[in-house]
Amino acid sequence: AAGRGRSQFFSQELLASIEHRHRLVTQLRAALAQGAFTLHYQPKVNAVTGALMGVEALLRWALPDGTPVSPAEFIPAAEESGLILPLGQWVLEQACLQARAWQAALPEAVPVAVNISALQFAQPEFVSRVRGALAMSGLAPALLELEITESLLAPHPEAARERLQVLRDLGVRLSIDDFGTGFSSLSYLKLFPVHTLKIDRAFVRDVATDRNDVAIVEAVIGIGQAMNLEVLAEGVETPRQVEVLTRLGCAAMQGYHFARPMPADEMTDWIRRRGA
Ligand code: C2E
Ligand code: CA
Ligand code: CA
Ligand code: CA
Repeated sequence: AAGRGRSQFFSQELLASIEHRHRLVTQLRAALAQGAFTLHYQPKVNAVTGALMGVEALLRWALPDGTPVSPAEFIPAAEESGLILPLGQWVLEQACLQARAWQAALPEAVPVAVNISALQFAQPEFVSRVRGALAMSGLAPALLELEITESLLAPHPEAARERLQVLRDLGVRLSIDDFGTGFSSLSYLKLFPVHTLKIDRAFVRDVATDRNDVAIVEAVIGIGQAMNLEVLAEGVETPRQVEVLTRLGCAAMQGYHFARPMPADEMTDWIRRRGA
């Protein structure tokens, strides 16, 4: 494919990984047809007031024999094969339906956040898909948050900005996921009309011991305050991290310290227990 006269080594490992990927895609396609995916939900909390701010929907998949496959493994395969489009649409609709169900069942509405992959966001009909999911579920737009990554905004910043503005005007919430790990310039922040920055776990992990991480987290919080953006710290696992982040002025947190991702019915019980 690279042209005549070109040759390339084809290693056994490469072959094995291609075969693995191919098998994964075949299994993903079958799982989608069989409805074998589920969503788990992880709370986002205000660590100072204890208030529940919302939940993030995270995709879960187990093979027919029950073996769970990590999203870190199957999401890239779903993206490369294009299966992320129907799969992502399913996540969007399922999450909206769940948030609508919580609205009916719980005293307080629970905003739900959905991870959006680059391919999904780039679809011409993406905005109408979002509109459709809201209309189908009857969920108020303000109760839906879309988590996007910097890498998704970089290729066509102006087109991305316009799309984000349309979504924002629709009333949905927008956040930049894994903030700080991408390669986009800080000046993009000025361009993109988002509500929230999610500080990646990579900077949170050692924030209690590493002065460089403190400096980075402090800088992001500073940017957030100056630009009127909410800042949330991801992957918070220990009381020490909670303490340091709180002292730095970041109250919004998510991580195992508060709760692991869990099925919807457990999430409902978790919310009820806290409210009681
Ligand atoms: P993410 O969006 O950054 O999600 C956070 C990941 O960190 C989740 O992994 C979550 O289970 C994990 N996590 C949460 N708190 C902690 C903590 O305190 N410590 C540690 N070590 N980890 C924590 P998960 O569920 O395996 O998802 C991995 C990635 O897969 C997500 O990263 C996201 O990029 C992607 N993903 C998951 N669901 C979807 C989806 O529905 N659509 C798309 N496009 N991507 C998804
Ligand atoms: Ca996320
Ligand atoms: Ca993240
Ligand atoms: Ca991530």
